[in-house]
Amino acid sequence: MNIGIYGGTFNPIHLGHMAAARYAAQALALDLLYLIPDGVPPHKDLGEGAPTPEDRLAMVRLAAESLHLPRGEAAVSDLEQHRAGKSYTVDTLRALHQKFPKDTLWLLMGTDMFLSFHRWREPEEMLRYCGLCAFSRSQWDREELFRAQREFLERTYGARVTTITLPQLVEISSTQLRALLSEEAPGSEDCRGGKFLAPPVYGYILRRRLYGTGEDLTRLPLAKLRPVALSHLKGSRIPHVLGTEDTAAALARRWGADEETARRAALLHDCTKRLSREEQLALCRKYSIDLDEYEKKELKLLHAKTGAAVARAEYGLSEEAASAIRWHTTGKPDMTTLEKILYLADYIEPTRDFCDLRELRRLAFEDLDRATLLGLTMAVRDLQVKGMVLHPNSVRARDYLKGRLA
Ligand code: ATP
Ligand code: MG
Repeated sequence: MNIGIYGGTFNPIHLGHMAAARYAAQALALDLLYLIPDGVPPHKDLGEGAPTPEDRLAMVRLAAESLHLPRGEAAVSDLEQHRAGKSYTVDTLRALHQKFPKDTLWLLMGTDMFLSFHRWREPEEMLRYCGLCAFSRSQWDREELFRAQREFLERTYGARVTTITLPQLVEISSTQLRALLSEEAPGSEDCRGGKFLAPPVYGYILRRRLYGTGEDLTRLPLAKLRPVALSHLKGSRIPHVLGTEDTAAALARRWGADEETARRAALLHDCTKRLSREEQLALCRKYSIDLDEYEKKELKLLHAKTGAAVARAEYGLSEEAASAIRWHTTGKPDMTTLEKILYLADYIEPTRDFCDLRELRRLAFEDLDRATLLGLTMAVRDLQVKGMVLHPNSVRARDYLKGRLA
């Protein structure tokens, strides 16, 4: 296997890091790429008020899920966070060499790191374990500089060095980015720092109020609520939630509901879905949520209640929007227009392909009640066929509409 190792302080990890990782994974034909945020950086002082190593690790995890490598897999290692003292790369490489003695290791780095590599701790030992892959970081990085350093490392340590020039440069450093983030006015649509970040990483920063962002989370403009919502999700669920947002907005326009409210509800409808059973139950205690016997049995049913509570309490969503989240999984008799819109949007958004949705997609824009009835009928049948927990609210919702439309 070809294994890439990309370490850094990642304070925070930005699109420059991600573009470089993606390109290097392709150029080196990597099977596995490790992103490794350091615990205590050996060569810089993070200063007071800097995010904790856990926050930096959490952001790297979100970035890894959004990386979409052209080949191979991305993984995040917390190796350096568990080691006492400064994080020296030589210790990390020794550990990875022990773990993967037969594989080819590549240490990835930008120009600045490459040019100072001989001054790191134990360059000779490091180069016994890995080859170096250096990528240019800006248009000022000259091939001559690279060449001189490459030849020096080859000559002195017998190093194996590959240098690559990134086809698209993202000229940003974490230092510049932190300054941009701290200049964003809270409550405004200004995302001058955010545009250099993967949306879930940006959302995490806003949510934890890192780098001086200081947003009031209950009054976020849509442009900031969106990344915040994405930071709650597994990477694989992001297209679904963005699809639900757009579909809910289109249905709101069609049926005269408030488009922005529909978007907010859709963005947060799965905001607790990623949580474990224990975390969900902790939220139930925090927000005094009672559970019925079905919800106790089936984790999937729980996230609608906890999601509504979080959306209302933490993100200031209106009762109307929170209620749409509350009922988006099961439905209930006598739903509001927004409740029907979110129920259907979740079902028919473009990335859904679990069954034939053509008729339901058409009907959703033609007759909201009949579409909701069809959606409920399909959902009930599907759960019965699969022998899964069927909440009676769905049956009641279906029968209510059947009676009304008869
Ligand atoms: P800081 O400004 O805090 O030093 P940084 O942006 O340089 O942050 P680091 O965490 O120090 O980020 O860097 C990790 C690695 O990523 C280093 O090898 C660095 O050379 C490389 N790197 C940083 N920014 C970019 C970028 N825009 N494009 C490509 N590589 C980058
Ligand atoms: Mg740096």
